[in-house]
Amino acid sequence: MRDNGVLAIRFYDSEDNGIARAWVAPVEDFNIVFNGYGFQDATHSIASVLSRFLEKPYRKIRLSNHKSDSGLIYINSGRGYVIGDYKYESYDFYWRMPFVCFDCEDDLPNHDYMGLDGNAYCQDCFYNTYEYCGHCGDTIYRDYAVYIDEDPYFVCDDCCNRLYTRCSQCNEYVLTRFIRTTKGVIHCDNCLP
Ligand SMILES: [Zn+2]
Ligand SMILES: [Zn+2]
Ligand SMILES: [Zn+2]
Repeated sequence: MRDNGVLAIRFYDSEDNGIARAWVAPVEDFNIVFNGYGFQDATHSIASVLSRFLEKPYRKIRLSNHKSDSGLIYINSGRGYVIGDYKYESYDFYWRMPFVCFDCEDDLPNHDYMGLDGNAYCQDCFYNTYEYCGHCGDTIYRDYAVYIDEDPYFVCDDCCNRLYTRCSQCNEYVLTRFIRTTKGVIHCDNCLP
């Protein structure tokens, strides 16, 4: 549990095979659970499971990190759960640990890759789940991104709808300004009806 003496990351298999996870920070004689991810209300669920396991009570508290919810470590919504006998309403982390990748726990000298879940990833782990939109640069889920063969890169839904049209002949996404209509058929430069 105290992987590096300061912070542990735990993984739980949920019943329907998804993996949920949360950060668990062992602090003095209590544990703080936050940044749950994987299913709805994951932080709460994981805190309640851990609380039963440790046979200690848990409750919601306000969390900050040098008095902020971003800073060295991002704290999702500035809230978490404390497990154990801790009587205050809030807790301020004061970490000096290096950033590690949320998935593989490799060191992240400069945390360039932030996931949509608010966690930092190494380059490899980031691109397992996410992509940057080739147009607006937004972070998007890889599974939902549209891959544009022509360019080639991923784009977000907004940019796809705004800039691309599907050729009715080859079915590829093509920049709308290169789409032609011949004899009432919408097509790209390569596909004359
Ligand atoms: Zn990684
Ligand atoms: Zn975009
Ligand atoms: Zn075409």
